[in-house]
This record gives sequence, C-alpha cells and structure tokens, in this order.
Amino acid sequence: MIDVSRSIKKRDKWHFLRLGARWDRSVVPIYEAAARGKCVPLLKTLLTSHCRNECAYCAFRAGRKCPRMIWEPRKLAEITKRLWEERKIMGLFLSSSVFKDSDFVTERQLETVRALRNMGYTGYIHLRLMPDVDRHYIREAIELADRVGVNLEAPNKEVFSELCPDKGGFEESVRKRLEWIVDEARRAKAETTKPKFGFAKAGVDTQMIVGAVDDNDWQHLQTTEWLYGKLGLKRVYYSGFEPVPKTPLERQAACPPSREYRLYQSSFLIRDYGFTLDSFAQIVDDEGFLPNVDPKLVLAKTYPDFFPIDLNAASYREILRIPQIGPMTAKKIMGARKNVKIRHVADLEQIIGANLTRRVSQYIELKDKKLTDFLKVNKGI
Ligand code: SF4
Repeated sequence: MIDVSRSIKKRDKWHFLRLGARWDRSVVPIYEAAARGKCVPLLKTLLTSHCRNECAYCAFRAGRKCPRMIWEPRKLAEITKRLWEERKIMGLFLSSSVFKDSDFVTERQLETVRALRNMGYTGYIHLRLMPDVDRHYIREAIELADRVGVNLEAPNKEVFSELCPDKGGFEESVRKRLEWIVDEARRAKAETTKPKFGFAKAGVDTQMIVGAVDDNDWQHLQTTEWLYGKLGLKRVYYSGFEPVPKTPLERQAACPPSREYRLYQSSFLIRDYGFTLDSFAQIVDDEGFLPNVDPKLVLAKTYPDFFPIDLNAASYREILRIPQIGPMTAKKIMGARKNVKIRHVADLEQIIGANLTRRVSQYIELKDKKLTDFLKVNKGI
C-alpha cells in the first residue's frame, strides 16, 4: 500500500510527495495548475529524464551530468490512480525527455495512460508528445487524453535550430506534428458526442521558450496568431528562459518575468479579444519588443480615434477594446443594454459599478462625464 507521507518541500506552485515503503520509494512532483481561477493539483512528471538530444538550454540534455530516471508505466499509472482516489491530485501531466527515440517514449507514455484508463481512472490527463511522433500514436493519445500537445520550443526555424540543434526540423518534427494533433482532435470531436474524459476535450496546446537566444516578441506574436487563429489551439505557453549551469547558455541572462507576462497579456488579446497582429505592429519597437506596459492600454493610446465608444451601438469586439473591460464585463453590458440605454455615468454605474465606471469612462460616450476624460484619450495621456 502506498503511504503518502508529508510534503517534503514547498516552493512556488510545486510540492513533492514521498510515496511508498523504504525499499520502493518514489518522490512525485505535484504542480498547482491554474485553471479558470482555481488551482488544480496535477502530478506533473517526465516519463524519463534520459535524453539523447542536446538542446542548448535544457537541464536534461545528453551531455550534462544529472540524475536520470525512468518510470515504469504500470507503476506510474498505479501511483496516479491512488493519488487521484485520495484526492491529492486531479490529474496527470505527462511529458518526457527523448530516450532512444520518439516511438520508444511515446509507446510508454501511451502504455501508462492506457493502463490508467483501464483501471477506471476518469481524471484529467495532459499528454505532451515527442517531436517526430508518428500519426497513429497521435490518434490513440487523443482518445485517451483530455489535452494533447507538442512543444514548438521556438517561434521559427532559425531560433529552433539554435536552441534544439538535434531535435529534428522545425517544420517537419514539431510544426507538422502540432497540425496533425489539431486534425486528429477535430476528427475525434466530430465522431464523439460529449465524452466524459479523453478525446482532447480540453484542446491542444504548445509551449515556446522565450529569451534564450536571439528571439523577439514580434516573432512570438506572429507564431501565436497562427496558433490561435489558424490552428485553433486552446493554449500557448511561454516559458521564460532561465540559465542552467553546465549548459551552453549558462552565462546567458534570464528572461525578465515581465517579458513573459506581456507576451501572455498580448496573446490573450489575440485569442479572446479579437486583436490582430497588425495592431501589435504599431506598438513593438524597432527590435520587435513590446513595451513593458499593459498592451491593451498601449493599443488604446495608439488608436485614439477608436474612442469614445457608444455602448448602446458597439459590437462585443468593440466593447472588448476598452482597457479594463474583459469578456465577462462586455457580456454584462451587452445584456443590460437590451433593457436600458447607457447615456449617463449613473447608467453605467448601475451595470459595472462606480469604480470601474470611473476607470473606463474616458473611453466611453457618456453625457455627463468630465471633459478631461476625453482629453486624456485624445492626447494619449
Ligand atoms: S529533447 Fe527535451 S529533454 Fe531532451 S534536451 Fe531537448 S528539451 Fe531537454
């Protein structure tokens, strides 16, 4: 029987559980993933840390000395099931290094999640597949997992070949695999009605490293628009580079957290707010970097002619362009205006409250607001 002992370390969103008897001990990493404003504890692990590749930033690159381990699929499935039954986790996030080859790893990832489902596990499974993964494995992964992805690692092939010199080609090994995953997820969705679990019902995702080599925000935004707009990905993750000792990039400066944050904000503007890449072309600097300011605010100041907005006539997308207004508030305004004309400050206060009204009134046509609010926008204050 697995004995879940004390949490042995706590740092940020991670904690670790030590499981098992003295002769059969495992330490499993639990990650508190953010999902719709809640923290969802996931067993987040690599199938193995053995790797044949030499990615320049990675702690597990082949030539670097570090502890190497490999999960036995059945054991990982049993531990996941047990932790899930004990409500210590709500799901499994399974990625891997590339031990031997992509097929070797993928077969064991699938063996793990197949065993898990056969044990009656209905919890969440997020699978990160390997570069060069074969299409028939993707099909099975989609059926078993709730979210499936493959890491792009870089916004384009030039950056990719600098970061991952032996991980295959950017187009063939990762970009095409991501397209296949999207295709298979769409096919599975068309063929299945309301599955309880699996069938990639939580969508497809990917991740890019930011700031490790000579990349810029514009490159990341170009790729992000393609990922959200053309491929319909659910989520694009940015992982700010952190130098790892005894890697070729150990002396490289870490990516500032603010850069990662501004990229996330901008990507959500593309995904959820209908902003196009063209809008961002006006706000990146000559080197292709975003300013370290809320991008929605910068966009509002860059396009002052767009304001003030008549909330009685504006479309949902137009309302969403107002700084501080998100999808929920925009929907609230759209719902309220069916019953009432929004002409005065007091009308808007009734819908979104006095605080928010004060913060957004400069962008909205309202009869009795202060003239200085219009001036703020038009002068780009
Ligand atoms: S393939 Fe993955 S684990 Fe291996 S070196 Fe590259 S990033 Fe690291």
